[in-house]
Amino acid sequence: YLAKDRGQSGIVVYESRVHTEALERLALRADLQRALTRSELVLHYQPIIDLRTVAVKGFEALVRWQHPTRGLMSPALFIPMAEETGLILPLGAWVLRAACEAAADMQRPGCAPTMSVNVSAQQLSQPGFVDSVLAALTDTGLPSDRLTLEITETVILRDLDTVAPRLAALREVGVKVAIDDFGTGYSSLAYLSSLPVDVLKVDKSFIDKVTTDKQAASLAEAIIALSHKMHFTTVAEGVEQPEQAAWLRKARCTYGQGYLWSRPVDLAAARAMLGSEVGF
Ligand code: C2E
Ligand code: CA
Ligand code: CA
Ligand code: CA
Repeated sequence: YLAKDRGQSGIVVYESRVHTEALERLALRADLQRALTRSELVLHYQPIIDLRTVAVKGFEALVRWQHPTRGLMSPALFIPMAEETGLILPLGAWVLRAACEAAADMQRPGCAPTMSVNVSAQQLSQPGFVDSVLAALTDTGLPSDRLTLEITETVILRDLDTVAPRLAALREVGVKVAIDDFGTGYSSLAYLSSLPVDVLKVDKSFIDKVTTDKQAASLAEAIIALSHKMHFTTVAEGVEQPEQAAWLRKARCTYGQGYLWSRPVDLAAARAMLGSEVGF
């Protein structure tokens, strides 16, 4: 309305847009608080594929917000806001429980899919974090070795003295820890080998280039080979092309995840993938 009242000068239009965005953010913030109590959050599940057998090994739980007027919203639009407001704590607790519940429900003799859950810095810095994970496992009946916590290296390294013993305690009972988006931070593999970690998720930015860029391919190959020497399991993120999957299999990457096999899907669709080979 500012632009209309005062003429079409660039500055006024710009101010008006900033103003609108700020108002929208405020509105969304209030909405997010309500979303938690009105169960508007949903989990989608993206399969993680064993590159050797091409079977579904497990899923990553990815949160979405079924907003009453905006429709299904991407976490990129509300996770940062949840972190700013502290709402990430109740949100994260809900995600952990719901994901464990879904995974517990999927367990069958001969079919024991894993569930990977993203954990943010604030959750990890809560003194009660370990207990809350243990309680989620106990209450849902999910065997602890079926749960993987995904954490970025920046979050682990920021407060290593606090975080390392917590992760160690969880690994003690069988919970797996994955470094998310590996390769986008600053730490070396040699350093990571001293951390309480089981899985490296190689960031999509590497996977994007493995079939087109020789240097990126050499780097990815070296990361995968060295990871295995250090007893990490490797997961390639964001696999979109069959050629990438073939390359990764040849490089002996253990698992792959990406649109090539499936986008994140709802619980019913995720269940339907279990026990079937997805192929490529
Ligand atoms: P992330 O943990 O790195 O998750 C992977 C993201 O890559 C997901 O986006 C997934 O849909 C997308 N992706 C997977 N395969 C492909 C592919 O082949 N191509 C492309 N272009 N993208 C692919 P999504 O679901 O939008 O999640 C974005 C980010 O939001 C996640 O990145 C994670 O950092 C955060 N997030 C999602 N759920 C949660 C949650 O429950 N808690 C926390 N703290 N963060 C979450
Ligand atoms: Ca993740
Ligand atoms: Ca990731
Ligand atoms: Ca990523």
